[in-house]
Amino acid sequence: MRDCIFCKIIAGEIPSKKIYEDEHHLAFLDIFPASKGHSLVIPKEHHADIHSMSAAQYGAIAAVAKTVADLLQGKLKSEGTTIFQMNREAGWQTVFHIHMHVIPRWEGDALHKPWDIAPASEEELSSIHALLTE
Ligand code: 5GP
Ligand code: ZN
Repeated sequence: MRDCIFCKIIAGEIPSKKIYEDEHHLAFLDIFPASKGHSLVIPKEHHADIHSMSAAQYGAIAAVAKTVADLLQGKLKSEGTTIFQMNREAGWQTVFHIHMHVIPRWEGDALHKPWDIAPASEEELSSIHALLTE
């Protein structure tokens, strides 16, 4: 897709540090890493986000993220792994070609949970549960 940074990376028009490639996917280092080895997994076919692709296509990206997570963990001896996948502006997505962040983690590293921990009331949980299951 024209004007898509990640399509340009796939086409080789923008350089990237690739760490994994198969017929339908690519993984490369994020240029603004949250930690050492922070990588992005993308499908070669342009899809904007989770809502514009099939479950099978999404599952295939997740499978590659698992392979990349194991690769990073094995090579970097990381102590944990965090996977992020943002969708649409409200979901913090900034590059609108779907991607999974695979972030190697270490105890005491600089990342923070992106939400405050606070319990929901029983009424709130019951109401959303009813809406989702009716
Ligand atoms: P999002 O915020 O959409 O979930 O993540 C986009 C990610 O792409 C960001 O972490 C950002 O650092 C990364 N990124 C943006 N432009 C480039 C680029 O040209 N090359 C690489 N390797 N990463 C990029
Ligand atoms: Zn694209």
